[in-house]
Amino acid sequence: MENKNNVSDFEIPSAVLDEIQNNIQCIIESFDIPDANKIEVIKKINFMYTQTKNMSITDALTRLYNRRHFELEFNKEYKRSKRYGCDLSLAIIDIDYFKKINDEYGHLCGDYILKEIAFIIKDNFRQTDTLFRYGGEEFAVILTETSAQNAPVPLERLRKRIEKNVFKFDGQSLNITVSIGVSSKTDFENPDGMFADADKALYEAKNDGRNRVRSAR
Ligand code: GH3
Ligand code: MG
Ligand code: MG
Repeated sequence: MENKNNVSDFEIPSAVLDEIQNNIQCIIESFDIPDANKIEVIKKINFMYTQTKNMSITDALTRLYNRRHFELEFNKEYKRSKRYGCDLSLAIIDIDYFKKINDEYGHLCGDYILKEIAFIIKDNFRQTDTLFRYGGEEFAVILTETSAQNAPVPLERLRKRIEKNVFKFDGQSLNITVSIGVSSKTDFENPDGMFADADKALYEAKNDGRNRVRSAR
């Protein structure tokens, strides 16, 4: 489920942000601000600018990067891998039977699970891997410099950590599993091909019984 109305999903074009930053000095000059206060005002505006920029690429619930940012980053990494021949893997992680969690324990519990899973994901990967909330209960991970042989290692570790974790909400203990599809192929015409490949592997993981990692064939 996409959150189209969520303010955090709106990404301000970088050209607009650059223009704003370039114009901060001009704006300051056009107001009658005493010289002694100018540095403080510039600092405050810069802080607000950075906050706005971060908000535009961050998912408000999980604090992971949002889908719009995924499109930009994945496009960039895909092109880099094709140009320089470096390894690249893309994983899509989908929570199993998440609708049931919402139905049985309520939406607040669902939101709590999403946040907790995001924490586990953040803790699981290398700093060079980039983490996204792709959609409702789907996450994406771009694993740079990671081959088809190596990608399953952190993904299997993540799957096991989530499986073993006891999620505690409102006095209740819950067990959650995830299914994961991964592609390490970059010989498609565009990044959409690689995404579809990982998505197909996820579909197979679901069909094979869930709670598993499947690599695209
Ligand atoms: P499967 O194992 O096949 O993936 O089943 P599923 O129930 O996880 O998949 P399905 O696509 O049927 O349902 C996804 C659910 O995720 C439905 C929707 O209510 C829930 N969801 C999506 N976004 C949010 C959110 O931000 N918060 C909460 N609480 N639930 C969400
Ligand atoms: Mg899903
Ligand atoms: Mg699901």
